[in-house]
Amino acid sequence: MRTARIASAFTEPERPKGLQIRFITVGGSYVDVTGAGHDSDKHRWDCHGCKDTSRFPEKDYLFSIREKANEHAGLCRAIPLT
Ligand SMILES: [Zn+2]
Repeated sequence: MRTARIASAFTEPERPKGLQIRFITVGGSYVDVTGAGHDSDKHRWDCHGCKDTSRFPEKDYLFSIREKANEHAGLCRAIPLT
């Protein structure tokens, strides 16, 4: 039986401490949301492809930064270089 398809030809990078969400980008890279979880306002996102990051690092709630990180993942066409 076939299960999930592999969406990227690239190897998933190591998962950092505090990783809450990892989005795959349209370019095959990843956007990581890291922080302390639901009750914290100290989250950030970082793109492995284009090296962009959240505008106010470590100053956002998970419900808010989730949308921003997912939006970036839906637009970013940079491929991972490592
Ligand atoms: Zn990016």
